[in-house]
Amino acid sequence: MATFQVDTLLPHIPDDLTIPQFMLREMSGRPVRPRNVPFFIEDGTGRQVTYEEVHHRTSSLANALSLRWHVGYGDVVCIMSPNNITCPLSGQYKLSGESPSNPSYNTEELVYQLLTTNAKLIVAHPQCLSTAAAAAKVVGLSQTSIILLSRGAGDYANVEELVSFGAGRPENYKPVRLQPGEGRSALAFLALSSGTTGKPKAVVISHFNVIANVIQMGAHYHVNDPAPNKCRTPPGDIAMAVLPMFHIYGLVVNTHFSLFCGMVVLVVPKFNFQKFLDSIVRYRVTHLHLVPPQILLLCKQRIVKNYDLSHVKYCMSGAAPLGGELMRQVSEILPNASIGQGYGMTETCTTVAAFVADARLGRIGSAGRLMPGTVAKVVKGDGTLAKEGEEGELWVKGPSMSLCYLNNAVSTAETYVDGWVRTGDEVIIKDHEVYVVDRLKEIMKVRGFQVAPAELEAHILLHPDVADVCVVGIADEYNGEVPLAYIVPSVKALKAIGKDPVRHLDLKQTIRKHVSDAKVKYKHLAGGVEFIDAIPKNPSGKILRRVLRERARQDRKPI
Ligand code: AMP
Repeated sequence: MATFQVDTLLPHIPDDLTIPQFMLREMSGRPVRPRNVPFFIEDGTGRQVTYEEVHHRTSSLANALSLRWHVGYGDVVCIMSPNNITCPLSGQYKLSGESPSNPSYNTEELVYQLLTTNAKLIVAHPQCLSTAAAAAKVVGLSQTSIILLSRGAGDYANVEELVSFGAGRPENYKPVRLQPGEGRSALAFLALSSGTTGKPKAVVISHFNVIANVIQMGAHYHVNDPAPNKCRTPPGDIAMAVLPMFHIYGLVVNTHFSLFCGMVVLVVPKFNFQKFLDSIVRYRVTHLHLVPPQILLLCKQRIVKNYDLSHVKYCMSGAAPLGGELMRQVSEILPNASIGQGYGMTETCTTVAAFVADARLGRIGSAGRLMPGTVAKVVKGDGTLAKEGEEGELWVKGPSMSLCYLNNAVSTAETYVDGWVRTGDEVIIKDHEVYVVDRLKEIMKVRGFQVAPAELEAHILLHPDVADVCVVGIADEYNGEVPLAYIVPSVKALKAIGKDPVRHLDLKQTIRKHVSDAKVKYKHLAGGVEFIDAIPKNPSGKILRRVLRERARQDRKPI
């Protein structure tokens, strides 16, 4: 067989709606949210946000953005915030594209994102203000292009004030009315991802892509099946949103899919393990979307024994591989939950495969069963198609596949090929279950976050003591992987350090600091720095990364 596809029927996917129109409309064929069930609950305060409030805030804010900043169709707004009930409500994507940013980014990283996405406005949480202000200056955005998410310092406009302003004005903005088919290309999100190689790029995600993946997940989890216990995501259940909403998994699966199901989304701004446990119990959370390091904590921390987690019904691990042993262990911690993995990527606008919740445990080692409507093929090293059970690179196509990398034809051509998205992951498919066996692409995943070696290498090369560099990931129990830099010191640096071990150590520390001063924490060189005589390269100068990955595997025990 050349391709793989499940035979579950996929309902109609509207291609003339924006995401807010789809999410906020009571539509036939989707779960009905009971009247007293709010959309969101804010973790710290317990504040509930109803459907009516969401509707009011998004419309009012969109109106204000349109009146004051002339934000319109095709514009891009960057949102820089920890999870916050205002983020998914911010309304600008009623009429423009949104580029979510990591709230811990420093100036250099935000500048890169603003330039890559051509963002016109920054909606920033007050705690991100200084970074947003500095980055805006670098890219030439005026300080009036910054809107605070809540009341805060200085003369900046803020979302609360804008909601009141927008609500009091006659509607000025033209709500997007898409023609049939237009939703397939209308920009909704620009999320950063490195793809198979190179620095992060802006992935163009349409309204249709998000709506499609939500509907695919709905079909996969039988959201409308009236048979008892068939639907595992019933309206009124409580899904915790502790994963960051700036990442596609937190945004589409954790937030949009849960809301679509009629569930309440409990919005948690920051992961703190004990508070996480407290909140699960306080709000009687039923659904958890997590990453492997969080599952590891659930399995290893003794404090967990003090909590009754028996009300948790569902727990998905995604964004990085979860070992079979951890899955078995967490099934004891969550005695009544269906547990398994989901697999996807930013470019596939999230879920390609997810565990089947009918069984107590997903299949050990499987990243999940293919989504309805997603077609997969497995391409072997010689270019031929793998049969069931054979290894090769996973290529996928379907309605959720993003469109391209913004303004980057070369990378687009590498990843988006004849309607297929190349995942860069080596897999085996068996019984429609996807088993990820290795990663062929350069990126490493640190706590579920992408780290692009090319980004770190470009930065390390700016240091005058470095002549050449290659960054690889090494295994780490908690983080999954951490970056290790092999560097060739410059001739001058080599002369200066000679054979003195203290100076060697100093230079290694200097390089680590050079990275930690400029990059968000998960990109730091926690795997260390090693000196090497020369970076192995092929005749055309391409780094032979696999050689150093292998060397790192042998040289370094997991830390
Ligand atoms: P991102 O675009 O940040 O979501 O990263 C996507 C990549 O994460 C995939 O291409 C995989 O390499 C990895 N990934 C996601 N889910 C899994 C999983 N369940 N098992 C193994 N790797 C995964």
